Amino acid sequence: MIKNKSKALFEKAKNLIPGGVNSPVRAFKAVGGDPIFIKSAKGPYIIDEDGNQYIELINSWGPMILGHAHPMILSAIQEAIPNSTSFGAPTAREVEIAELIISMVPSVEKVRMVNSGTEATMSAIRVARGYTGRDKIIKFEGCYHGHGDAFLIAAGSGAITMGTPDSPGVTKGTAKDTLLAPYNDLAAVERLVSQNKNEIAALIIEPVAGNMGCIPPQKGYLEGLREICTREGIVLIFDEVMTGFRLAKGGAQEYYGVTPDMTTLGKIIGGGLPVGAYGGKMEIMDCVSPAGPVYQAGTLSGNPIAMAAGLAMLNHLNDHPEVYTKLVEITDKIVAGMRINQEKLGLNYTINQVGSMYNRFFTTQPVTDFESAKTSDTGMFGKYFQMMLERGVYIAPSQYESFFVSTAITDELIDELTKADYEVLKALHA
Ligand SMILES: *Cc1c(COP(=O)(O)O)cnc(C)c1O
Repeated sequence: MIKNKSKALFEKAKNLIPGGVNSPVRAFKAVGGDPIFIKSAKGPYIIDEDGNQYIELINSWGPMILGHAHPMILSAIQEAIPNSTSFGAPTAREVEIAELIISMVPSVEKVRMVNSGTEATMSAIRVARGYTGRDKIIKFEGCYHGHGDAFLIAAGSGAITMGTPDSPGVTKGTAKDTLLAPYNDLAAVERLVSQNKNEIAALIIEPVAGNMGCIPPQKGYLEGLREICTREGIVLIFDEVMTGFRLAKGGAQEYYGVTPDMTTLGKIIGGGLPVGAYGGKMEIMDCVSPAGPVYQAGTLSGNPIAMAAGLAMLNHLNDHPEVYTKLVEITDKIVAGMRINQEKLGLNYTINQVGSMYNRFFTTQPVTDFESAKTSDTGMFGKYFQMMLERGVYIAPSQYESFFVSTAITDELIDELTKADYEVLKALHA
């Protein structure tokens, strides 16, 4: 496989952009080797600058759920462009998308559009703090909520329950307001809550963890969190930037039937353009400026081109529930193939799946939280990644990411994927 152009671009980029990329995971650091630079994509395929074609299992980390360059999304964008690309003033499309999101996502009674998932989560906790008059938040080890300071926090040691900065530049002052608990452990949350009585503004969680591989919530876990938050006056925030419009048109909250107080959205919501949103109960959202005192703003928020793409995507998902049946069908087939491959080779790696989210951990232990996810052999994953790439399959360059399928994946492609998976697993265990 020729990678000359990608190599040259990366060499040049490294002198111009930190690490040569505009978001760290793209640099392939967790798997070794150099990133491939993408030229175009269509349907289930992505094509790099050297002309190599790959089957897509990243799909821009989720948004391209209908496959790349979907004609319906492209024409919505093309129709919007001649009317100019930004106004910084209200538009009809913003009203339309708000109405649509509110109709689709159970917890959302009012919604504010922003430009990324990070902006959505940062804003949501500010609003929760303003609403409750409390400072602290609870997050979960291994859950990702974008790069806001309050979320770049690692677990403190021993008896200290407050977090410590997980990145230079995050202050100890910020870290002391973020409490960490292990995923799927209700008792740990109860302990944090009783040690910080009346001090916790919000609990934020990925209702299905997708940023430490795919980790489902255990039975009763989300319900338990809901109960604790209601009892303690804590704002329950589901970060559905990944799960929203993916597990169901109403996201994980519809899938599991547990309604949070606030929801953050991103990825699919923009149809591939930079869009995020946060919403929730009327009473909470009415704290947001200019309705209320909590400040949050954005020059390009609700951008007309981004709204056109988002509306096209959400309208399609709303009108075509069969998309979700198809996504699950495709994922079930891929996962079944992976399991059969493992059986044939006498392997027993853990594969987790919820709807169209799945991944294989290179560990034989059940993976239910960050601790167990970390038992994975990341060196083995790195080799797996490279060998799949050589065979024309583009998967996320980290053990701790979910796979993202699109409806563009056909049965023939599933067979190709299954065959590549078998060959690579076999070579790795020869
Ligand atoms: C991707 C992601 C984010 C961050 O969204 P960006 O648009 O990258 O800022 C936040 N939360 C979750 C759950 C995500 O998967």
